[in-house]
Amino acid sequence: MANSLDQKYVPGSENHVGQQMHRCITQLFPYHRSNAGVGLRQTLSDLQDILPIKVHEVPTGTKVFDWEVPQEWRIKDAFIADEAGQRIVDYCDSNLAVMSGSLPIRARMRAAELRPNLLTLKEELNPDWVPYRTAFFRDAWAFCVSHKQWARLNQDDQEVFNVVIDSEFIDGSLTYGEVTIEGQTKETILVYAHCCHPSLANDNLSGVAVAAFLGKQLLERVARGDIPFKTYKIVFAPATIGAITWLAQNEKMTANITGGLILSLLGDAGGFTFKQSRVESSVNRAVELVMHNRNTPFEMRPFSPFGYDERQFCSPGINLPMGCFMRTPNGEFPEYHTSADNLEFVSPEALADSLDVVTEILATLEQNFKPVNLHPFCEPQLGNRGLYRAFGEHDDRGRFQEAVMWILNQADGTKDLLAIAKHCELPMKLVREAADVLVEHELLGFSEA
Ligand code: ZN
Repeated sequence: MANSLDQKYVPGSENHVGQQMHRCITQLFPYHRSNAGVGLRQTLSDLQDILPIKVHEVPTGTKVFDWEVPQEWRIKDAFIADEAGQRIVDYCDSNLAVMSGSLPIRARMRAAELRPNLLTLKEELNPDWVPYRTAFFRDAWAFCVSHKQWARLNQDDQEVFNVVIDSEFIDGSLTYGEVTIEGQTKETILVYAHCCHPSLANDNLSGVAVAAFLGKQLLERVARGDIPFKTYKIVFAPATIGAITWLAQNEKMTANITGGLILSLLGDAGGFTFKQSRVESSVNRAVELVMHNRNTPFEMRPFSPFGYDERQFCSPGINLPMGCFMRTPNGEFPEYHTSADNLEFVSPEALADSLDVVTEILATLEQNFKPVNLHPFCEPQLGNRGLYRAFGEHDDRGRFQEAVMWILNQADGTKDLLAIAKHCELPMKLVREAADVLVEHELLGFSEA
């Protein structure tokens, strides 16, 4: 399990993992990602420098459950200019300036006509911030502007502007990327990060960076000969339609998924938040156990069908044991879905800390299984089986013996090791070690339940 001290960010240490993740976010930040298309492809292609992502293209029009893979939205240029040709709003300055999915338009219009197509934030929030808005699955166009720009465009109802959005929708494909790190069993831990937002750092890119570096560290672990107990699968795809597409294309393999996390919003300075899976699950128990032992602000929230792709992964027909792990939740910080969710808003320290916590949660989940006592009629004889010798060889003899006794008692096939660790208040690592010794001595089996 990762040692939190190893992960501490030291300013100036350029190769620290926090810095590496921040550099990754900086590289991906300018791409104009959306739910399909060039920016999404470029993002996945760049991530291939970090880990061997397999890229899949699902053609426009492919039926995915109740949805269809959409067309790709492409944009070349967009602006609002005054009569003198001065651009007041310019897509070249920020790809947030146009509502994603906007229809094309080329028109001269008066300020009063243009106004319904301007989206802005309240002046008191910040006069320079621009909102991030999308319009996929509806026919509309709009510009996203700061309050200052809005005020300039609304000086005079009769002022005429040149309004251009040079966009198009084309048949293409939706792109997603995945990497599988084979473990000792087919049981799979799924990590999912959405990567469909344009220049937003905390929302989408922080989750992408943590997932990518988690994968990189797992591959380094494999290279050292330390094969994970379970298989890990890391998926990068657009939110909503990407998750729906991935699930439709991978429905069969979801039977192997025994837990996982949806990662987002992991680079801000706030405390951690975990939105639990829809039903009580091992992932809820793993997060609870890890966060209980960490001296860091943390909030556990019950499942709700809003927010990120827990809506898809925890829909009743899919119902995976997955929850969403974040710092400050979506919609609960002023920079959310605005131009202020930028490279300064996410820090190497927060990213490194997030990676450390996520690694520990998944390592805990990885050690989990549901044990069954193979000699459940009274206590088995431990001496005859050499168990006392095993106790003596353990560094923490007292607590190790305690873990053995608890497991033998609790392993009735209804509880997993996480539930047992919680019940007896012993570290998961120790409980797993005790379980391994009991399996080795044929006192413990794996429950099918
Ligand atoms: Zn978002």
